[in-house]
Amino acid sequence: MKKVSKIIINPQNGPKYPVIIGKNIIRDSINSWIVDTKSVERTFVVICDSLIENLYGKEVKRFLEKEVRGKVFLFSFDGGEENKTRETKKMLENLMLSSGCGRDTVVLGLGGGISTDLAGFLAATYMRGVDYLSLPTSLLAMVDATVGGKTGVNTQQGKNLIGCFYQPKEVIVDISFLDTLSLREKKNGFAEMVKHGIIADSEYFSFLREHTEELFSGEEETLFHSVERSILIKGAIVEEDTLERGKRKILNFGHTIGHALEKAGHWTIDHGRAVAYGMVVEAWIAEEYGFVDEVFTLELEKILKALGLLKKIDRLDHRELFSSLKMDKKNSNGELIMALPKDFGEMYFGEGSYGKRVKRELVYTSLEKLWKHCLSW
Ligand SMILES: [Zn+2]
Repeated sequence: MKKVSKIIINPQNGPKYPVIIGKNIIRDSINSWIVDTKSVERTFVVICDSLIENLYGKEVKRFLEKEVRGKVFLFSFDGGEENKTRETKKMLENLMLSSGCGRDTVVLGLGGGISTDLAGFLAATYMRGVDYLSLPTSLLAMVDATVGGKTGVNTQQGKNLIGCFYQPKEVIVDISFLDTLSLREKKNGFAEMVKHGIIADSEYFSFLREHTEELFSGEEETLFHSVERSILIKGAIVEEDTLERGKRKILNFGHTIGHALEKAGHWTIDHGRAVAYGMVVEAWIAEEYGFVDEVFTLELEKILKALGLLKKIDRLDHRELFSSLKMDKKNSNGELIMALPKDFGEMYFGEGSYGKRVKRELVYTSLEKLWKHCLSW
């Protein structure tokens, strides 16, 4: 496959930037960025976790050392959500400061969403903001985290509660990284891809439904097309609503319930699985309001099952679930507001908003339905 795709994202709060998608394109893409922006004298800092450091980080550093005349650093941290913190950010900032990294530094975030969120946030605040290049290595980061400019860290109270919007100068999506990615990790991306189909593109949803086996086996053309499609969808939504005031809410489909499950499950449920359960529960809620019919939810269930995202889940404590729902920063005034589906490729819009106020009792009974219904998965 020699195909390379370039998608331009044009956010409302910053200059436009390209997302380059292809296979084995890291070197060429970084190289042309350096040439185009005349950055050969600048300092480069690669940020990744210790696993990615050995897999790809050292290689990227060696490559950069050949290409630029400025200093090149590789700083790593222990991976995992529990380390996506202000403390880790501080540790990396101290390394950069003591290494003499100045305002001309280019930060490269290499890794999954944890690394790119952290590296992006670090780039956003280091000396009031330095250039940032995003190099996602996981399917989830490729189709979700690296488009939209959200950066941040977790705290005791929840995920991504401290952060900011900061747009990268370029995103390089090299799907060859997926060759070494575990199926479990890939599934996290599958869930977001299905979500993109539901919220904005019924044709894409059908494509995914017809290619579940190819997705599972990692077939290149299917992955390329899906990644490209998802980035186009997310890019278009983000362009329309960069600061998450309106339309961007629809990207939250499956995530209101999904995040609560993740938190109440003490982060033992993978993000993709949690979002898959979330999408089913939220589709049931949409059914109750008459937005979608039973066939819709059954189709959704079918594809999520085929992608290995739905299996039996132990009942979680409802008190804990509801306290997490209250903490959802997307809800104002403590009300439960959800983005609900209306059809394949279409989300509910009413009273001037993509968010529907949902009664607590309905959330309660829909969760009860999940504990019972999941026994058949
Ligand atoms: Zn997500």
